Amino acid sequence: MPDKISMSVQYLKSVGPKRAESFSQIGIRTIKDLLFYFPSRYLDRSTILNCVKVAQYVVNGYEGEVTIIGEVVDSEVHYYNRKQVFKVRMKDASGFFDCVWFQGTKYFKDIFKTGDHFAVSAKPVLTKYGHLQFVHPDFDRFAENESRDFLNTGRIIPFYRVQKELRESNLGDLSLRRIINQAVETYSLQLEESLPDFILKENNLLGIIPTIQNMHSPKDYTSLDDAKHRLKYEELFYFESLVAMRKHLIQEKKKSFSFKTKPEPLKKFLKSLPFDLTESQLKVLSEIRKDLESGKPMNRLLQGDVGSGKTIVALISMLIVIENNFQAVLMAPTEILADQHFKRISELVQPLGLKVDEVIGGQKKSVRDNTLEKIRKGETNIIIGTHALIEENVEFNKLGLVVIDEQHRFGVMQRSTLVQKGLQADVLIMTATPIPRTLTMTLYGDLDVSVIDQMPKNRKPIKTILRGENKLPDIYDFIRTKAKDGYQSFLVYPLVEESEKIELKAAQKYFEELSRNQLKDLRLCLIHGRMNWKEKEIIMFDFAARKYDVLVSTTVIEVGIDIPDANIIVINDAFRFGLSQLHQLRGRVGRSEKQAYCILVTKDELAVRSNQFNFNFDFLSPEQIEKNKTVIRLNSMVKYASGFDLSEIDMKLRGPGNIFGTQQSGLPELKYANIIEDSKILFDARDNAFKIIASDPLLTHPDNSLIKKTLQENYSRHIHLAQIA
Ligand code: ADP
Ligand code: MG
Repeated sequence: MPDKISMSVQYLKSVGPKRAESFSQIGIRTIKDLLFYFPSRYLDRSTILNCVKVAQYVVNGYEGEVTIIGEVVDSEVHYYNRKQVFKVRMKDASGFFDCVWFQGTKYFKDIFKTGDHFAVSAKPVLTKYGHLQFVHPDFDRFAENESRDFLNTGRIIPFYRVQKELRESNLGDLSLRRIINQAVETYSLQLEESLPDFILKENNLLGIIPTIQNMHSPKDYTSLDDAKHRLKYEELFYFESLVAMRKHLIQEKKKSFSFKTKPEPLKKFLKSLPFDLTESQLKVLSEIRKDLESGKPMNRLLQGDVGSGKTIVALISMLIVIENNFQAVLMAPTEILADQHFKRISELVQPLGLKVDEVIGGQKKSVRDNTLEKIRKGETNIIIGTHALIEENVEFNKLGLVVIDEQHRFGVMQRSTLVQKGLQADVLIMTATPIPRTLTMTLYGDLDVSVIDQMPKNRKPIKTILRGENKLPDIYDFIRTKAKDGYQSFLVYPLVEESEKIELKAAQKYFEELSRNQLKDLRLCLIHGRMNWKEKEIIMFDFAARKYDVLVSTTVIEVGIDIPDANIIVINDAFRFGLSQLHQLRGRVGRSEKQAYCILVTKDELAVRSNQFNFNFDFLSPEQIEKNKTVIRLNSMVKYASGFDLSEIDMKLRGPGNIFGTQQSGLPELKYANIIEDSKILFDARDNAFKIIASDPLLTHPDNSLIKKTLQENYSRHIHLAQIA
């Protein structure tokens, strides 16, 4: 059998079936997979100090981390204040130093064997006897020859993360490094290039073979950077090629008709509204109108902060389509939300004599069948529903417009399934999660974007405050006093455990306790995730009809619920929520001209600390940000009202990948590149990808055959999504 890079790792020296199994558990099956398992960090000689130098640094007041290489001399367990302390004595060429651990003695005892070599990194301290000491340092083990080589040749040493699965088959850092080393030496020459030559040349990129070799054993940091650059470029290039292909596919489609706007009925409808549209809403509407009137299908993302009034914009767009004798459908992420849209919209269009129907889970079969029949016959003008719209066998008569509310809740698959039912229907996607511009371009490069950046005039900014739990009695007083002025309140309790049962219990417990004690003179109701939509709906409806003063809930009220008289929201254990979730929750209030309040509640100490924390992002180091994430989140909620400001902060806290879940965009996850830090590479790769797809959309030109092959081999799932999205 030929020695092939595509063979199982089992054919490598020191890898048997058991280790191969462990590798496969972390996604490494072939030798090629292993070549793409890169070091998590590197160590080079210039960063190594000797221990005498370090001791001098400490005396001079240095407070940063250092790295020393040393050999284990001996180790001992002793007791300090009746607690076990494990101490390892080590030496380097200049002298002796100690590493100590106050826990995990048994574990560390097995690791630090006399004569073994380690690199240890930590903040150094001097004991009162003047000994150099490292407390709980990071450490990496070397083989003796490695340590000698390292010190003599100045080679950079790679360190690989040894995951739990690997440890289980007795793979340690040394053996893993040896195995990978061997694989790179023997097999890297067989790697096939995955970027065409002209792209490599034009962009000055390393070929794949030196890239992989450099990633594992770079001769210096420049060659390591070159290798990383090439990987990022490649990743972003294929990512953007997929975006470009999607965009092309959309643009290629033609509608068989274009809608005509009839101004009269629209004017009449606008007059019937109790408010004037904001300028921002009007601007967005004219953008949508142009799309509807054009011969190409609309694919538009409508961004607008919570409460900015997206629904009415969607409804007016639907009316245009309906005037042209087509149907329009609105899909919402939850039953409550769908139902709320159904009720509101039915009321609003009733004077126009339009028919609205609802498709959500749990409807009676007879009702459902009847509805489906009306939709099929074209008797229904507006269809509103949840993902049941996709699951049920809904056949439209003449679908002209698909509106998707709170799109971040849907995956790309669900979205495209609905869109396909309309054949060439126009698509409007609405989201309250604002997305910074660079990300919109990358993730939604195939969509046009409209933004409502203005709140309705009658709104007062919501007052947001952060309080410790010791203030809860005052907060309940506040709720009681305000209830006399007609204020309704939400009391939100986070999901503490993943289990719905426990969630239910917690909300129930608070509900009972509050009803009996603190809020006994008010009318309370409870809503939680275990109720079916009908039960939830009845309560929401009664709450909206002012039959209750206080709604106790788990997070089911998170999206979209619109109850103008509810103007206080108390979010308990606020630290458990992410920033965008907090902002969404806050958006449940402040929907009328009354002053609204958002009260965040956390442990007393955290509240004090967060209220005092005064920060400016530009002056925070990554470590400070990492350490103070919770405090920054809470503090930002108090400080910022706009979802756009908060989304920028959220992105800095969590990194761009996590916010939008590229999964949902149907695009591959980025492993090497960071959209923010690598934005220059991103734009280069994007320009290149879009140029190529524009001139050769199906990649039939021989120059592009390698691009096509790589897409098919590495991104087949995403190509599929690109075609249906
Ligand atoms: P969201 O953008 O979060 O979906 P909604 O569409 O639910 O917001 O609108 C929030 C509330 O604001 C609704 O009660 C709606 O009737 C009202 N509204 C929408 N546009 C305006 C406007 N121009 N002036 C005043 N109120 C408005
Ligand atoms: Mg909404």
